[in-house]
Amino acid sequence: MSDGSLLSHDADLLRERRTPRRECLHDRERDALARWHRLIGDETKFLTGTDEHGQKVADAAAKNGQSPQEWTDAKSQQFRDAWAALDIHYDDFIRTTEPRHYESVQKFLTAIYDNGYIYKDVYKGLYCVSCEDYYTIETSVDGKCPIHGRDLIEMEEENWFFASARSKNS
Ligand SMILES: [Zn+2]
Repeated sequence: MSDGSLLSHDADLLRERRTPRRECLHDRERDALARWHRLIGDETKFLTGTDEHGQKVADAAAKNGQSPQEWTDAKSQQFRDAWAALDIHYDDFIRTTEPRHYESVQKFLTAIYDNGYIYKDVYKGLYCVSCEDYYTIETSVDGKCPIHGRDLIEMEEENWFFASARSKNS
């Protein structure tokens, strides 16, 4: 029955802006899938956690009079409590503010930078803070976010880009 493959359920880390109620459906489905693979003897690892960065997290923390770390500590605990109440059996819960996470990311990014795969540049566009994403005039609805209906703000930020995108655009 088991093909011996590793089911790495590297689910997208839960974003801090989301509530346990909204996210529980996804992790309940992942939990069911992980249970199935364990049942048939597959080596299974169900990883979940909280994604603790971004303007939205900073804004929510400030609005609640807390530091981003205090805010994410509390939110992350809410998720753990909800998962325990729902009997969701994950193998690992990782927070992006944990050294084991950001040190691995730093190591990876340093390696791809050293090998010329990424470069720094400026990106400018219409941004929705709720989506944490950019839109164009064409993808907006009268200059507003098509999902949230909020005004999009003109944003310019220095960021990292994959070198393959530069070669396609030039
Ligand atoms: Zn939006």
